[in-house]
Amino acid sequence: MSFAVRPSAPSLKTDTVASEALCIRCGFCCDGTLFGHVPISDEEAASLPSPLEVVAPEGKRTRLAFLQPCAAFDADCTVYDARPHTCRRYRCALLKDVEAGEVAFAAAAAIVERVQERRASIATLTGRAFPHVKADLAANPAMNVDAFLTLLAVERDLDRHFRREKPADTASDETR
Ligand code: SF4
Ligand code: SF4
Repeated sequence: MSFAVRPSAPSLKTDTVASEALCIRCGFCCDGTLFGHVPISDEEAASLPSPLEVVAPEGKRTRLAFLQPCAAFDADCTVYDARPHTCRRYRCALLKDVEAGEVAFAAAAAIVERVQERRASIATLTGRAFPHVKADLAANPAMNVDAFLTLLAVERDLDRHFRREKPADTASDETR
């Protein structure tokens, strides 16, 4: 898989070249890989930049939010200067590890690439794009067992390296 260099990080301007480079390659906190929605405050909901749309609390969601995959994500954040507070402060565990020098950039990039390759494999096996196929596959593994096993491997990587402190259910509507 090739990594095209984009002009800025997808979710945040990071402090180091290495961490910005990691976000440029990744985008999992914007494209629906890690989360189903992003919670926002009432104040932010009143001035959410287009094309983001406020959704009311529902099911597990107890706060106003906008859904992911983010409508403002197009290989980069297209509303960067107006992005909500949750986006501004979010840093996944892998990014923190790279910034702390606890994980080498090459190792982190390899984890990102592995997840991307497995997502692509799920899309090929099911004929449906990731993450849209995720909930259906989790609810009905028999739909494609190979794809389901690959989804479990993706979720293991996401839990271990990105979410870490918050293990996920593959069918859950994860939030930042
Ligand atoms: S607004 Fe969307 S694209 Fe921008 S940082 Fe937040 S989740 Fe990512
Ligand atoms: S999931 Fe982590 S590494 Fe990926 S774009 Fe978001 S903050 Fe950056």
